[in-house]
Amino acid sequence: KLAEDELRYLANYDALTGLPNRALLMDRIYHGIDQAKRDKRSLALCFIDLDKFKQINDSLGHDIGDLLLKEIARRLTLTLRESDTVARLGGDEFVVLLEGYKTQDNISHVARKMLTVVSEPMQFGTHTVGVSPSIGIAVYPEDAINAAELLKHADVAMYHAKEAGRNNFQFFTAEMNEKAHMRLARETRLRNALKNDEFVNFYQPIVNSQTRQVVGAEVLMRWQSAEGLISPTEFIPLAEELRLIINMTNLMLERALQDLKHWHNNGHLIYLSVNISPQHLEQPSLAEHTRHLLKKYDIPANHLRFEVTESGLMRDHESAIETMLSLSFLGVQLALDDFGTGYSSLKYLKELPIDGIKIDRSFVKDIGIDSSDETIIEAMLSMANSLGMYCVAEGVETEQQLAFFSRRQCYLIQGYLFARPMPAAQMSDYLLQEH
Ligand code: C2E
Ligand code: MG
Ligand code: MG
Repeated sequence: KLAEDELRYLANYDALTGLPNRALLMDRIYHGIDQAKRDKRSLALCFIDLDKFKQINDSLGHDIGDLLLKEIARRLTLTLRESDTVARLGGDEFVVLLEGYKTQDNISHVARKMLTVVSEPMQFGTHTVGVSPSIGIAVYPEDAINAAELLKHADVAMYHAKEAGRNNFQFFTAEMNEKAHMRLARETRLRNALKNDEFVNFYQPIVNSQTRQVVGAEVLMRWQSAEGLISPTEFIPLAEELRLIINMTNLMLERALQDLKHWHNNGHLIYLSVNISPQHLEQPSLAEHTRHLLKKYDIPANHLRFEVTESGLMRDHESAIETMLSLSFLGVQLALDDFGTGYSSLKYLKELPIDGIKIDRSFVKDIGIDSSDETIIEAMLSMANSLGMYCVAEGVETEQQLAFFSRRQCYLIQGYLFARPMPAAQMSDYLLQEH
């Protein structure tokens, strides 16, 4: 009898969290739908996926990942009514079945509550860990005709929430299907743009504020489309998803080294800073290709810097590290971009061949407004200093922000105060004016 009970438990519940598993969840949805039909009520299914859970697992270990999942299960259960079902599908995916809620507003209210409780930081030993959820919601009978479709549409809505910047919830609606079609159209447009060579390089000067000389330039991609200039924040994520970014970056690097050679020939010995996407960094061929290009354009390796992001380092630690070591061996410098916006930066700073950090604009813009941001910048500067790394302050727009960095001996400045990103020809003029 005991063994039978145990078998039933195993077949219906998730071993880690003790929550209902997919099988039991589906069962509850079937029954829920029956009930809703009879009572002419609606039923909502919330698909919850944790944002960046993999990074936590990778950086803090699976033990902490497990503890976190258990804690999320506990919090969700406490937040909801007895009659609601909280289930775990596996990995970092949870599903909540809400029965007997009257209006969309009520459901929104519950979703907001779930966002809040899941996002509250957790303490595991010495680690404070924060994780946010993306939640997709599908409603019966509006969004689906049966249980399987309801789950599928809640999942689609969850992806919509991810796209909308994570840490939010979205409903599945007809417009969302419309969006899926539009996305396909965007994919096609991007592929065509690459075929038609519609990407161009812009350059933003990096200035030494002490000497007022341009010491470097960051190359930033732009899409010269029929509708005008499109920002990289609009197309880089899609290019990464479609794995077009590697090809795009290689072409961009080639154009950039040509421009750089031109500037070097005119006596402007600036360095070039290039953003490298995570998946590109995982390519062992990146170092070899870079070596080849440097040779082709006869540029010393120390005039090239690659900017990588923390999230980029965490995806596939091993191969990314290997590429970084090869690049470092070549003499190409590496900087951590958007510093302070990701996870466990300190660990990576120590382990990896990082030469410098770029302080993110999100901290810089609050100088003079939010003293805690100022304190964080100070901590970053002193840490970089003691690790022997250089610092570039990004997004410096005002004299006040500049003065803040000057007082703290951070002289590498990139921002609208000195110059906005500009096409190569304009950059040539800018360099001429400087001398
Ligand atoms: P990022 O690498 O952090 O680049 C800095 C961004 O901040 C640029 O935006 C730049 O125009 C902007 N910025 C610089 N100074 C200021 C300022 O004073 N005020 C304000 N408001 N903004 C400032 P952009 O060009 O739109 O690029 C956005 C992001 O797109 C970049 O952030 C980078 O992550 C990505 N990106 C751009 N080009 C490439 C590329 O070729 N490859 C990859 N993988 N990513 C790229
Ligand atoms: Mg950058
Ligand atoms: Mg940045």
